[in-house]
Formats: sequence, C-alpha cells, structure tokens
Amino acid sequence: MREEFKTIDIGELKETLEGRKVKIAGWIYTKNVLGKLIFYRIRDGTGIIQVAIKRGEIPEDEFEEAAKALRESSVSIEGILRRDPRAPNGLEVRAKNVKILGESLEDYPIKPGETVEFLLDNRHLHIRGLKMSAVMRIRAKTINIMREWLEKRGYVEVHAPTLITAACEGGATLFEVKYFDRKAYLTQSSQLYLEALIYSLGKVYTIQPSFRAEKSRTRRHLTEFWHLEVEEAFASQEDIMRTEEELLIYTTERVKEECRRELSILGREIEKIEAPFRRITYDEAIEALNKEGLKIKVGEDFGVPHEERLCKIFGYPLFVMHYPREIRAFYHKPSSDPRRVICHDLLIWPYGEIIGGGQRIDDYNELLARIKESKLDPSEYRWYLDLRKFGSVPHSGFGLGVERFVAYLCKLDHIRDAIPFPRTPARVYP
Ligand code: ATP
Ligand code: MN
Repeated sequence: MREEFKTIDIGELKETLEGRKVKIAGWIYTKNVLGKLIFYRIRDGTGIIQVAIKRGEIPEDEFEEAAKALRESSVSIEGILRRDPRAPNGLEVRAKNVKILGESLEDYPIKPGETVEFLLDNRHLHIRGLKMSAVMRIRAKTINIMREWLEKRGYVEVHAPTLITAACEGGATLFEVKYFDRKAYLTQSSQLYLEALIYSLGKVYTIQPSFRAEKSRTRRHLTEFWHLEVEEAFASQEDIMRTEEELLIYTTERVKEECRRELSILGREIEKIEAPFRRITYDEAIEALNKEGLKIKVGEDFGVPHEERLCKIFGYPLFVMHYPREIRAFYHKPSSDPRRVICHDLLIWPYGEIIGGGQRIDDYNELLARIKESKLDPSEYRWYLDLRKFGSVPHSGFGLGVERFVAYLCKLDHIRDAIPFPRTPARVYP
C-alpha cells in the first residue's frame, strides 16, 4: 500500500529535503514534452519548481495524461526531490505519481505578446502570473507592515462608512448612488469621520477604499483605491510629517528585507530614502517650474508632469507645502499667510503625489465661514461642525494612496497593476 503524504508548499522545498519523497500540488506553469520525458514547471502561489516525468517511472496511463495536460491544469504530484543544476532554482522533483485534478479545457489564453486591453479583459487569469503574484505579495506585506508600525505607535484602527452624504474633496469626483428614496455618495476619503474619532481615541487610522469619479486618465488614478488615512489630536503639521517620514522609511526597508524574492522577480532595487525629506513651498515650486519652462501660474494646481519635474529638480521624496487655499478643500487651516493653508503633498518619482496631508481648521466660526465660502451647505456638515463646538483641539492628518505607494515600491508602469481588479473610468469588469 502507498503511503499518504501531506502536500508541501513549493516555497518550502529546500536542499535539506534532497532525496526525500515529497507531495506537491499546483498549476502547470510551463510544459515541455521531449519524447519519453516531460518537464513541467509547477507553481502553487508560494513558489515554482521543475518536475521531471519519465516514461516508465510512473504508471503509463498517468504518463499519457501528463503529456496531454494543457497549461494551467491543476495537478498533484508525488516524487523525489533532487538537486539539479539545470533547474531554475537548482531543485527538481522526479515524479512517481502525477494526478491531473482540474484539466484546462482549452489552450490557456494568456500568452506573451498579448495587448494590455486583452490582459485587462482577462484579469482573472492574468493575475496568476509570476509578476502579478509578486506585486500582490508586496502589496500585502506593505499593508501589514504599515499597520504594524501604526499599532506599535498607539494608533487605533477604525472604519468609516462607504455610503455618505457630505463631500470631503469636492463635488466633481463624487459617485452618486441611489439610497432608497434619497441620494447618497461613495466616500472620497474617511478623513471627516477620522476627525470625529480622535475625540474618542486620540490617534486613529484606517485602511479602506475611497472612491473618486476621476475622469483624468493618468497612470496614477483609479476610481476605487485603498486609502491609508491617519488623524491625530494635538498634532501639528510638523508632527504628522515626521510620522509620514518614519512610516515610509520603515515600511520601505522592511519590504526590501522581506520581499527579496518578489522584488527580484520584478527586477526592482528600491533606492534608500532618508529623513528628513526635502521640503519646499508651493511658491518655490511654481518659481522652479517656470524657470524650467513649464508655464504655471500661482493658484493653479500641479498635474503629473509638474510633479514629475519637481522630483527631478529637487529629488524625492519631496514635501511641497502651503498650497493656495482656493485649490485645497475647505477644512485646511490657513497659515500665517492667509492666502496659503497648512498642508503638504509628498511627491515620489515617477508617480508624483503619494500622500496629501495637513492641519485642519479647529475653530468653529472659521470652519463655518470656509464651508459657506466653498458654496457648501452647512446643514450637511452639522455633525462635522459639532466637533469644533465641544472641546475642539488642534489636529492634523494625512492620506496615503496604497496603490501609488505599491506602484512605487514595485516600479510599475501603471497604478492599475498595484491592485488585482482595477477600477478605472473605462473598466468595471472583471
Ligand atoms: P491627485 O492630485 O493625484 O488627484 P489628490 O490631491 O486628489 O490626488 P488627496 O485627495 O490628497 O489626493 O488623496 C490622498 C492620497 O490618495 C493621494 O496622495 C494619493 O496617493 C491617493 N489618491 C487620490 N486620488 C487617487 C486616485 N484617483 N487613485 C489612486 N490614488 C489616489
Ligand atoms: Mn484627485
């Protein structure tokens, strides 16, 4: 009678297991039939391994099946682990048994040379690839490391509603949804709710989706993205900027250490970033851009080309501070120059802004005036105004776009590859 073996993760196969019988299960990544010998490369999400199947060494019917099986069929294989210098990672399983579990019913459609559109239409299959899998692992690690760092610093994780009535970042990019017999919107940011929660918890954060009906088709905009937001009571803009520096440096270093395999699949060597990050003001940025021939006037906001150029001129990560109040949302606190607000964007090449943050207005009357000035309806913001009525405190916070950060860490050409099922103006399928 045959012994039953427990299936082992391919990622766990090490030279120390050489000569041992192992059982693996996964998908046929590549197949090569050379007469009496079949070579598979099998992947299971934890790693990839070469399997050699020799006629005569396994039951004949299994050999026939193995030779016929199409790419991406799922298989379970028992065999002996051997060293083989010709194998991609120096190890090979010499098969004793091959069982096809789920046959691919037709030729696997993902092949080299397919168009971007085709790959996006077949995203549910494309994500099986080694590169996409590596990005998803890096994404998962990045989120976990940031969460761990925030927890250690005493930030409390909270969750805000997705369905809301009051805009946070302006009406133009709101998705409207029917809410029974009323209108509601998908949230653009959880910030306003995080501001309410600092009165219960002091220091809070959330990692959840934000939605923006952004028509701008840039390589850094999604309509649904994951947003890490932090809000802290009694914190100045300076305090929160230090938090950002430390969080980014810590996360980057740990991703480098813990995602070596994935980064090497992507051919990515992440550059070292050090604190303090360079800081410039909005006015300095405008001056520098004009000097370089990019015509932009005071009062205009930066687009991707401006931010890219700023990173080239000043290096990165780069804080750009004190934007004009008319191009920032109503809640920003004015600086000593009342035409500017206490805010910052953090830019990283080649994505530009990955964080936006700053200090919030804490005075009731000042906030009310800004809401009116911004042509918003104060009654919609009654609860938000209340926060300034009962024990208001100076407070600051920031929002980081998870996909933009992951795209930077992985050096992706487009932000859509930092999320398995991207949502863009042109795409809500699959
Ligand atoms: P942009 O000018 O690039 O549209 P924003 O100024 O609208 O960005 P914020 O409102 O400050 O961005 O949001 C905070 C962070 O959320 C940004 O720094 C960015 O990392 C991320 N973010 C914002 N909009 C998007 C989007 N459409 N897709 C992906 N990430 C986004
Ligand atoms: Mn935007």
